[in-house]
Amino acid sequence: MDLSYSVLISSGINIAGEIRKLGLNNNYAVIIDDAVHKLYKDKIERQFSGEKLNFKFILFRHGERSKSLKVFREISEKMLKLGFDRKSSVIALGGGVTGDIAGYVAGTFMRGIPIIQVPTTLLAQVDSSIGGKVAVDLKYGKNATGLFYQPLKVIIDIDFLKTLPDDELNNGMIEIIKHGIIKERKYFKFVEDHISGIRNNEPEILIKLIHGSCLIKGEVVRKDEKEKDLRRILNFGHTIGHAIEVIKHYRLSHGLAVGFGMQVEAEISNKLGYLSDTDLDSVRKIIGGFGIKPVKYSKKMLLNIIKNDKKNHRIKNGLELVIPLVLPESIGKVRIRNFSLKELDELL
Ligand code: NAD
Repeated sequence: MDLSYSVLISSGINIAGEIRKLGLNNNYAVIIDDAVHKLYKDKIERQFSGEKLNFKFILFRHGERSKSLKVFREISEKMLKLGFDRKSSVIALGGGVTGDIAGYVAGTFMRGIPIIQVPTTLLAQVDSSIGGKVAVDLKYGKNATGLFYQPLKVIIDIDFLKTLPDDELNNGMIEIIKHGIIKERKYFKFVEDHISGIRNNEPEILIKLIHGSCLIKGEVVRKDEKEKDLRRILNFGHTIGHAIEVIKHYRLSHGLAVGFGMQVEAEISNKLGYLSDTDLDSVRKIIGGFGIKPVKYSKKMLLNIIKNDKKNHRIKNGLELVIPLVLPESIGKVRIRNFSLKELDELL
C-alpha cells in the first residue's frame, strides 16, 4: 500500500486548485454532513466552479450516529443514482465522521475509487484523516466494520477551524496531547506552552501544532500501516474510551471519551509503578485544561464491553482472553501490557 501521499497544511488554500493538480477524471462526489454543508457550501461552490471541477454534494446528517451501515448504503446508492462510476473520485469534506464514512464508501464503491480527505475539525486534521483507517460503527462495536484505505491527498486548511465550537477544538486537542504522551515529550511541552495561542486560533501555532501531530502519526503509520505492532500505541486511551462511548450510546463526544480513557489508563500505569506521580499530574492537568471531566460508568458494563474489544486476542487454545493496554511509562514513552479481565477489574 502506498503511504507516500502528500499532506498539505496551510491557511487560505485553494482546495479546488489543489485537487485539479492531481489530474484525476473530472467527476467528484463531495461527501459532506449537513452542518458543514450549511457553513461552507458557498465557499466550495465558488472554488470548484472557479477551477471548472464537476462535482455534486452528497449530504448526510451530522453526528456519530450517521457512521452506520444504513448511511453508508444510502450514500453509495445515491452515488450510483447520480451516475458516479469507477473513474469518479470522492472528496471527504468534514470531520472524522465524514472522513471515516466517505473513506468506507470510496474504498468499496466499484471496488475502490480515489479519495481526497479535506478535514475540517481539529481532530480530523491531526488524526482521523491521516493513516487510512476508515470504518462505520455496528450496534455492539465502534468502527467494527472497516478498511485500511489510504487517501490520494490530505488537504488541511486551518481556516476551517475558525467556525469550530470549543468542544470540538477540545476533542482534537485530546488526540494532540495523546501524540505527545505516546511519542514526544518536546511536543507535549509545546502544547503546554502554547495553550492560549491555540485557544486564540493563532495561525502559526496551529500550523506547527498540526504539522507536529501529522508527523508523529504519519511516522507511526508508515512503520506499521496495518496495526500489527507499533501502530497499537495510537490506541492509548481508546480501550477505555471506546467502551465509555458504547455505554453512553455515542452521546458523549469521542474526544471527551478518549480523554477520560487516557486519564484512567495513565492512572493504571501509575498504580503499577510505571508512570511517576509528576508525569501523571501533568497528564491530568493538561487533559483537564481541555474540558475533560470524570465520567460516571458501571464497571461491570465497562468490562463487558472491553471483553469484546477488537484489539483483544485469546491464548491457551482460546481459553484465556488477553486485553492489551497502552500504558505511559513517562511522557513520550509507552509500553503495551496484556491484562486478563480479572486483573483489569482489580485495577479499575
Ligand atoms: P464529526 O465529524 O462528527 O465532527 C464534529 C462536529 O463538528 C459535527 O457536528 C460537524 O458537523 C461539525 N463540524 C465539522 N467541521 C466543522 C467546522 N469547520 N466548523 C464547525 N463545525 C464543524 O466528528 P470528529 O470529532 O471530527 O471525528 C470523530 C470521529 O472520528 C469518530 O467517529 C472517530 O471514531 C473518528 N476517528 C477516526 C480515526 C481514524 O483513524 N480513522 C481516528 C480518530 C477518530
